[in-house]
Amino acid sequence: MTIRPLTILGQEIEPGGSAQLYMDIAKLPTRTHVEIPVFINRAKKEGPFLLLLAGLHGDEVNGVEILRRIIRAGYHKPTAGAIVCIPIMNIFGFISQSREVPDGRDLNRVFPGSPQGSLASRIAWTLLHQIVQHVDYALDFHTGGASRANFPQVRCVFEDAESVELAEIFNPPFVVASKYLDKSLRKNAKTIGKSVLLYEGGESLRLDEFAIQEGVKGALRVLHHLGLRNDSPPAENPPVMLRKTSWVRATLSGMFRPTAQNGTYVEKGTVLGIITDPYGEFEKKVKSPSSGYIICINYHPLVNQGEALFNIGY
Ligand SMILES: [Zn+2]
Repeated sequence: MTIRPLTILGQEIEPGGSAQLYMDIAKLPTRTHVEIPVFINRAKKEGPFLLLLAGLHGDEVNGVEILRRIIRAGYHKPTAGAIVCIPIMNIFGFISQSREVPDGRDLNRVFPGSPQGSLASRIAWTLLHQIVQHVDYALDFHTGGASRANFPQVRCVFEDAESVELAEIFNPPFVVASKYLDKSLRKNAKTIGKSVLLYEGGESLRLDEFAIQEGVKGALRVLHHLGLRNDSPPAENPPVMLRKTSWVRATLSGMFRPTAQNGTYVEKGTVLGIITDPYGEFEKKVKSPSSGYIICINYHPLVNQGEALFNIGY
């Protein structure tokens, strides 16, 4: 029987083997090498190859904690196939607590990247060609940006039956239809035949215990379904499938206090929060324009007219 090769960052990983490799993209201006740790564990038994990825956006700490717990518990050691773990993809942003890499670019908007391009472009190229290309599936962990808390959800294209099946296996509270964005990892991985499931939970720079636990449990269910593990936490209620989402935006600038609970169903006309004038002149209720599920809340205390406050899914 021929053994399927697994080559990560140019290094061959044999069945039963493991490795901790470092993706070495660039030095800091101080000559300090920035090395991105990559953990690979391969079982003796053949099975699919899966990537667990977090921190593509440097400030999205919930994904980092999800992968940390998976590694700490030893769940990254499969009983068949192989698991590649990258807990912090954008190390630059993680250190500076920012979404972007130091050249100001969003790593998830520069794929497929280029080995001679910008810093972001080089990181994207290496991730896509030296890692993603060599696995079958990837779970990519994100959180809401800029004080916006995402209720745990998996995003996928509903026309892609395999993604929808994996999303249902993951069993988050919500599965949200989300088109492929140009230059995103998900779209570029799809063009080379890889399924990437995108998990969103909590907000940037704040650890959210519920979102972390949902992420760990979902990852274990997918590992079990794909044959990489022998067991998984039981599935809970089936996820609510949301085909459409729309933002409720601020009609006025002011101080903002959400009153509705994230993840709940609201009827049309339900008061979701209040925008106030800091000098006491007005208090404006924010009402839901239609019935649906709240899947994201902006917790920033100051808002400008037009700013996204609540994402409602239908
Ligand atoms: Zn993100």
